[in-house]
Amino acid sequence: MLISTQDALDTVLRHVKPLKIARLDLADVLVGGFVLARDVRCDRDQPPADRSAMDGYAVRAADVARVPARLELIGEVAAGSKARPRVQRGTCATILTGANVPPGADAVVRLEDTGRDDNEIIIRASAQAGLNIRKRAEEASRGDVLLKQGQALTPAAVGVCAMVGASVVRTRPMPKVAIICTGAEVREPGQTVAPHQLRDSNGPALQGALASMGIAARRKIVPDDPRKIATQLRAAARSHDVVIITGGVSVGHCDFVPEAVRAIGGRVRFHGVRMKPGKPQLFATLGASRCIFGLPGNPVSVLTGFWSLVAPALRRLIGVAQGECCPLVKLPTVKALPCQPRGGRTVFRLARVVQTRAGAAIELVNSAGSADLIAACRAEGVVLIPANGRDIPAGAVVQFQPWK
Ligand code: AMP
Ligand code: MG
Repeated sequence: MLISTQDALDTVLRHVKPLKIARLDLADVLVGGFVLARDVRCDRDQPPADRSAMDGYAVRAADVARVPARLELIGEVAAGSKARPRVQRGTCATILTGANVPPGADAVVRLEDTGRDDNEIIIRASAQAGLNIRKRAEEASRGDVLLKQGQALTPAAVGVCAMVGASVVRTRPMPKVAIICTGAEVREPGQTVAPHQLRDSNGPALQGALASMGIAARRKIVPDDPRKIATQLRAAARSHDVVIITGGVSVGHCDFVPEAVRAIGGRVRFHGVRMKPGKPQLFATLGASRCIFGLPGNPVSVLTGFWSLVAPALRRLIGVAQGECCPLVKLPTVKALPCQPRGGRTVFRLARVVQTRAGAAIELVNSAGSADLIAACRAEGVVLIPANGRDIPAGAVVQFQPWK
C-alpha cells in the first residue's frame, strides 16, 4: 500500500530517535550543523573589562572638553598587557585596540585625532566619557545563557563556545552511515563499461550529499543477488546507524532489497510512497536504533529520496527538532506549474532559485526524467507539486526543497 509523502516523513521521524549525547571537541563539530545538547553560558562578563575599541590615547574626557589640549604621556597599554598606568588630570596613556582602559581614563581618542610633541600628546578632537570604549558586560554578563540547547553550532556559535572556554561541547555525534548500491549493471566509476553496464553515480552522489552534512560514508557495490545483498546489509547495519541501499527496491524480478531487508530481521515500515520520482521507496527499522532506507536506483530518485526522507532522519539523529528536520522554502513560481496527478502522487520537479525584478522565485529545470542526473546539476532542489488536481498559476507561492 502506498502512503503519502507526509505520512512517509512522519513515519521516519517517529522511528528515528536522537543519538546519545556525547562530549565532542570543538574541532570535531565544525562541519555538519551539529546541535547543542546543553545550554552554553557566559563564563565571565563580556567584555570582561572596559576595553578600547580603537588605537589611540586613553584620556579623562574632562581634560579634552576644549581642544586642542596637551596631555603628558605617562605610559602605554597594549592588548594583552597587564600595565595599568593611572591616568590623572592632564595626562594620558597610549592604548591599543582590545587593551583594558587604564584607571582614571574614561574615554579613548583615536590616534588619527592626535599629534605628538616630544612627551606631550596634542588632542585635536574632544571626547565625551565612554567614547571608543566597549563597556564591561555590554554584550553579556557572567552566567547569561548565550546559546540554547537545540541551537545549531554555526561558525559564530562555535566561536562563542571557544570565547567562553567551552572547548568541549555536549552534542549528539554524527550518525554512522553506509551506502550500498545494488545492480548487476553497476561498475566502479574508475572501471571501463560495456554497453549493458553503467558506472555507479549514486554512491558518489550520496557520499557528496552526506559529506555536505559532515558525514563521511563508505560505499559498496553489490550485484542483484538476494544472499549477497543480505550479507552486505547485515554487515553494514552492525556498525552503522543508517544504511542507504539503492536500486533493486521495486517489484521487478531482480529487485531483492525488500526480501533481503526482511531476511536480516528488518521491519519494513513502508514500501511505496505516493511521490514521483521515487515511488518504490522503502524504510525499515532494525532492532531498537538502526534504520535502512531503500531508494530506487534512478539517480534523480536517489537524490529526491535522500533529501526528502534520509536527510530529515539524519537531522533528527543529531538532535534537530522534529518540526525542523525537513525545511521547505516558500517562494513564488516564475511560470505556471501544471498539476499532472499520476495516481495521486506528489510530483518533485527539479528546480532552482532565480532572481526576478520582484525578488527570488522558483524556476523549473528541464529534465528528461528521473535518470537525468545531468539535469540535476542545473537544479538546486525540487519544487513539490501536490496531487490535488489544481494547476499552480505563475506567481503563486510554492514549496521548494533545497538540496543542501
Ligand atoms: P533499479 O531501481 O535497480 O530498478 O534501477 C533503476 C535504474 O537506475 C536502472 O536504470 C539502473 O541501471 C539505474 N541505477 C541503479 N543503480 C545505479 C547506480 N548505482 N548508479 C547509477 N545508476 C544506477
Ligand atoms: Mg537494479
